[in-house]
Amino acid sequence: MEKIRMTTPLVEMDGDEMTRILWQMIKDELLLPFIDLKTEYYDLGLVEREKTKDKVTFDSAEATKKYGVAVKCATITPNRQRVEEYNLSEMWKSPNGTIRAVLDGTVFRAPILIDSIKPAVRNWKKPITIARHAYGDIYKATEYRVPAEGKAELVFTDKDGNESFRETVYDFECAGVLQGSYNKDSSIRSFAHSCFQYALNTKQDLWFSTKDTISKQYDQTFKLIFQEIYESDYADKFKEAGIEYFYTLIDDAVARVIRSEGGFIWACKNYDGDVMSDMVSTAFGSLAMMTSVLVSPDGKFEYEAAHGTVTRHYYRYLKGEETSTNPMATIYAWSGALRKRGELDGLCDLVDFADKLETACIQTLNDGVMTKDLVGLVEDKSSVRAVNSRDFIVAIRERLERALA
Ligand code: NAP
Ligand code: MG
Repeated sequence: MEKIRMTTPLVEMDGDEMTRILWQMIKDELLLPFIDLKTEYYDLGLVEREKTKDKVTFDSAEATKKYGVAVKCATITPNRQRVEEYNLSEMWKSPNGTIRAVLDGTVFRAPILIDSIKPAVRNWKKPITIARHAYGDIYKATEYRVPAEGKAELVFTDKDGNESFRETVYDFECAGVLQGSYNKDSSIRSFAHSCFQYALNTKQDLWFSTKDTISKQYDQTFKLIFQEIYESDYADKFKEAGIEYFYTLIDDAVARVIRSEGGFIWACKNYDGDVMSDMVSTAFGSLAMMTSVLVSPDGKFEYEAAHGTVTRHYYRYLKGEETSTNPMATIYAWSGALRKRGELDGLCDLVDFADKLETACIQTLNDGVMTKDLVGLVEDKSSVRAVNSRDFIVAIRERLERALA
């Protein structure tokens, strides 16, 4: 069989631990036999980040800007324990944080659904994608405990040193707490563009929710910026694509999401997205089945799994034990990136391959062949067979070969 040709390289970001092992298996079994794979390789494994003083992470982000599509393996975000384990000269920052900052992007998370695992919410039939604005709000707030009676004020001084606003927050008659949070128009605009872009790309409706009735300046600003950008840049394109932009209050959105059948993108402010993404992903089943894509406001894409490096399985692997780590989200990172590359370069074969790879994965699971983490979630366990990672990937390969033949 002739291999599928690529024209532009994918930016390939390798990673750490168990997912690094899966990464190689996926390439060897599911990609290299079928595709003349072109990638520009960046090793974001912690050893290489240490060796390059983290330059490799910045380089990979710049390459993503250049080529437009990247696929990333999960990576370790160092903490004190990792600094010792890997003898690091510095506690390097989270690669995801670095790449997100360089691309000014928004993360979209969507679950992979299969027939035998029913979402906890019975009427959900299609994935719900959550877009979280990962900037500002309480995550960058200044706060302290107010020790005793006294006045708290909100003051703004312009760049020439003139005080232009002074408002009393509260006249405290006793001890309490105080918090000042902020956001920037530029960041909200980028968030809005990424959301509209991704909705168009995936042909799904976009929902956005805040609490603008209560927060008449802060949340209202989010609502107005989204509305303005929608009208100026996207309304016609949405109409053409047959999709909708829908704004509603966060509490109304929560109620509608639960009653919905899914199949849309839900854009959330930072805190709402933090909380809701955990709720939605748990209700859909498993972190191992959650995909993630970073989208920049100018339409660059970086695909990855939402889970981490699965350290516990890796330590077992190092001891020579077999592991049943689920490679689904990592395979979908590859299929997502290959499909996007194919679309951008007009390579129908590559797009078709990505579709067939995903179909082969779903077929394998529907045939009852799955990793251990999923077995617990299946209602009817009679026709299910738990396999290790390699056997699972081999089972996918068999189905993929048949589909491509
Ligand atoms: P994790 O790697 O997501 O794993 C947590 C647990 O979830 C695992 O121990 C496993 O449970 C289960 N799990 C996750 N993915 C699975 C899969 N594909 N198949 C089967 N089970 C899976 O999170 P963590 O242990 O908190 O973090 C490990 C490392 O990953 C950390 O160094 C962290 O910095 C990094 N991390 C990276 C990213 C990223 O690069 N995007 C994201 C998150 C965390 P059982 O052990 O019960 O089987
Ligand atoms: Mg959370």
